Amino acid sequence: MDAIALPAPGLSSEEAARRLQRFGANELRGTSGRSFWHLAFEVLREPMFLLLLACGLLYWFLGDRQEALILLGFVFLIMAITITQDWKTERALSALRDLSSPRALVVRDGVQRRIAGREVVEGDLLILSEGDRVPADARVVTASHLAVDESLLTGESVPVRKLPADEQVSTPSPLEKMGTGHTPPTGARPGGEDLPFVFASTLVVQGQGVARVTATGVRTEVGKIGAALKSISPESTPLQKETHSLVGRLAIGALALCAAVIVTYGLTRGDWLGGLLAGLTLAMAILPNEFPMVLVIFLSLGAWRLSKKRVLTRRMAAVETLGAATVLCVDKTGTLTQNRMVLQTVFCEQQTHRLGADPLPAAFHPLIDFGLLASQPNPVDPMEQAVERVHRSAIGMPARSCLGWTRVHEYPLSRGLQAMSNLWFSPESPRAFAAAKGAPEAVFDLCHLPEPERQRLTTVLDSLSAEGLRVLGVAVAEPPADTRPTHQHDFDFRFVGLLGFLDPVRPGVPAAVADAQRAGLRVVMITGDHPGTAISVARAIGIAQADDAVTGPELERLSEQDLLSLVRKVHVFARVVPEQKLRLVQALKANGEVVVMTGDGVNDAPALKAAHIGIAMGERGTDVAREAADLVLLDDDFSSLVAGVRLGRRVFDNLKKGMAYILAVHIPIAGLTLVPVALKWPPLILLPVHIAFLHLIIDPAGSVVFEAEEEEADVMSRPPRNPQEPLFGRDLWKNCLLQGVVVMAVVLALYAIALHRGQPDNDARAITFTALIVANVGLIFANRSWARTALGTLGSQNAALWWVTFGSAGFLALVLWVPFLRTMFHFSKLHPVDIALCLLAGTASVVWFEALKWWRARR
Ligand code: ADP
Ligand code: MG
Repeated sequence: MDAIALPAPGLSSEEAARRLQRFGANELRGTSGRSFWHLAFEVLREPMFLLLLACGLLYWFLGDRQEALILLGFVFLIMAITITQDWKTERALSALRDLSSPRALVVRDGVQRRIAGREVVEGDLLILSEGDRVPADARVVTASHLAVDESLLTGESVPVRKLPADEQVSTPSPLEKMGTGHTPPTGARPGGEDLPFVFASTLVVQGQGVARVTATGVRTEVGKIGAALKSISPESTPLQKETHSLVGRLAIGALALCAAVIVTYGLTRGDWLGGLLAGLTLAMAILPNEFPMVLVIFLSLGAWRLSKKRVLTRRMAAVETLGAATVLCVDKTGTLTQNRMVLQTVFCEQQTHRLGADPLPAAFHPLIDFGLLASQPNPVDPMEQAVERVHRSAIGMPARSCLGWTRVHEYPLSRGLQAMSNLWFSPESPRAFAAAKGAPEAVFDLCHLPEPERQRLTTVLDSLSAEGLRVLGVAVAEPPADTRPTHQHDFDFRFVGLLGFLDPVRPGVPAAVADAQRAGLRVVMITGDHPGTAISVARAIGIAQADDAVTGPELERLSEQDLLSLVRKVHVFARVVPEQKLRLVQALKANGEVVVMTGDGVNDAPALKAAHIGIAMGERGTDVAREAADLVLLDDDFSSLVAGVRLGRRVFDNLKKGMAYILAVHIPIAGLTLVPVALKWPPLILLPVHIAFLHLIIDPAGSVVFEAEEEEADVMSRPPRNPQEPLFGRDLWKNCLLQGVVVMAVVLALYAIALHRGQPDNDARAITFTALIVANVGLIFANRSWARTALGTLGSQNAALWWVTFGSAGFLALVLWVPFLRTMFHFSKLHPVDIALCLLAGTASVVWFEALKWWRARR
């Protein structure tokens, strides 16, 4: 049998489930994230919480027990809201953690199945290939060029080679072992050449192999030393840094104001405790503590929304950068196309044949036969699987491998040569033979074809690839049985024929490409395939400018300067090896583009790291690529990527609106707290309970309501935003200052008028506060869109908005009409006329902004 054939059918799924039950999941340690108590503890450090507590204590000392208790009540309410919000964030993140857990290819019930790494059990047969993280400790059963980087365990960065062990002799059967606990086989230590053991979390850097799992979870070597790979990293994103610095500056300003209030109040009224209370109230009113929290909520809910579009976030920053992307560099095979190869056209001996209902003429049998012999046994590559299928149906006879021939050597695809060969040997035959297949140009070279012959074949190749077919050349050589050449070029290959594979375009892709282009994004195709095939597929999916392809070798010859101008106009790059992607990314970045780059192979990792957003494939991608990436496309589909860009833009828009609202609403609050102190108006308007009440509205509104806001109509028909554009940019400041100042003027005027008319303090306070709440809700509606009027936005769904609106109205009604609450808020009973006045003034203070929007839209 073959070197890498499956030695056994693997576990049955019932048995695997039983073992999973019994021995637990293959996890290192509870990755459940932060616990509830942890979250609660974090809330205790919130400034808002501490300020409320401080005010409560002050009241207590001032002898006002009731006021103190009320504030304590608010402390609990605000804590509850914060914890639910954090909990929501946490749940979103832990859902992502589950998705991002490594995956494993195992044999269950005799077939290969991809499962979550945590479901691997002892006794499972693992199929390992280049770029995989080994999911558990295992004993190698078969191997071909298998080499593993075990530096995680040994610190030794040179990969070690693995050789198979004779399973029957050295491993106790998993059943015998069950219940006896795990005893590591002797010699099963990481490091050291040619041993048959692989270890969890180490990396396959070369070759393929099959291994039987000996230990999972904490019983693995890595589990014992407790070293784990981190999944989602909570590092700060650029927006978080920007917000942080803004919050820092605002906080300093706010604290200075508070100090000024305390001193002014103390000096002008001679009441220092009262001054302290006023100062703390102001601090509660204007400390910008919401911003960081709002940002975290937006980013993590954004990541969660992305995951519903089958895009997994590994770095938070990607959520915000996505919306600014200007170039999407995508692999062709598997991302734009389905990577479901069907052998469609074959060519040999001057004849072309299209596979279909007719039986395959005998003249083509050698081509298919050698094509299969040049493949991996049990192929995973879709082209090789396609050849195998045709072989089975057209020739039917068992391949030569079963007639005493064994594969003695494999020459893998390499950077320098896009062809692979297998060397076969039979004890009954004086001659060995080698079957090769690969990129036609490479195979022509291997065959040292004379020029006229090569020209003739190139014409055929061009016509096949112009149909969008992926073409492979096949060749064969018959060296003497005792030779073992080191290079494929050492064989004397004879050309056999060409195989043309059809790889259908993914259904949603042409529409997604059109969407992306309308949104001002360039779609650039990067492929290892032939330029003709690449151009044909590019046309089929609607990459408009696909009249010319630049090849990898041409890229190599370009100077840095020429490359920079070339990447501005070329949209198809063919015969590119992964290392050249890095150069492309760097050139695009040097041109000021925001680059998204997809990749799946081991060698793609540097380019994925270098790109602004590196994207790995969830289905095909190697673990190495996934670890280097910012996002993972779970279903490998380009359409999901465009959906992601759309969502990224929406997140940024909504974040701006939410932040503008929060800034705007703080202006009247600050004004109402400051002005009475400065002008020595007799009573303070806003007391700590009012501020606490306001926060009950502002916090969820600024985060959940705006986060859920639907995208603007033009979200995918305007050019990408400038990545340099700050979140707190000009338009944001302009809008929020305008809105905030007007609302402040209106509510202050109401208060002044009430006092002037000789209404009692509690009347004036109730009027002002009611108007402020109305204006606050108005600001939420006004900021839902800066383009559409509030009436225009009414049609778009937002459940959170209505909760907040009716919630505020309900609470307001309670504090105005329930006598007990009214006293608590220091209000008097309002006359209906007063209430109507508040409604009118509150609405008027925001409605002008709607008129402004309408006027802007008309212009
Ligand atoms: P892509 O970017 O389209 O995924 P690859 O880098 O995977 O392209 O492959 C580049 C070229 O290498 C293919 O066009 C083909 O000529 C050759 N090639 C890929 N896989 C195989 C294989 N299993 N056997 C022979 N040749 C292959
Ligand atoms: Mg490929």
